[in-house]
Amino acid sequence: MKRALSWLLTKLAGTQIDAFTVFGRTVWLTPAHKIIERFDNAEDALRGLRQLTRHEAKHVEQQKREPILFYPKYLWQLIRHGYQNAPYEREATEAEGE
Ligand SMILES: [Zn+2]
Repeated sequence: MKRALSWLLTKLAGTQIDAFTVFGRTVWLTPAHKIIERFDNAEDALRGLRQLTRHEAKHVEQQKREPILFYPKYLWQLIRHGYQNAPYEREATEAEGE
């Protein structure tokens, strides 16, 4: 179920998701070596990992805020606004910092 939901959301988002929050406090992360491959050096890779962690922590916080509504709302936001402009995603992106 988790994998199916993750796959579905990835398809709906129409983009490669680096990291994705699934059910409660379980956060699925892209393997570190794949993230590191995208950056030129360790400093940039670590900065990317910190940003992803803050992004996903915000999604965990959103789920705690709205434990029942989070997933239906998230799906609706993806359909209505697209990945980049979904309110939950915008909030998580703002939380990434630097
Ligand atoms: Zn996100």
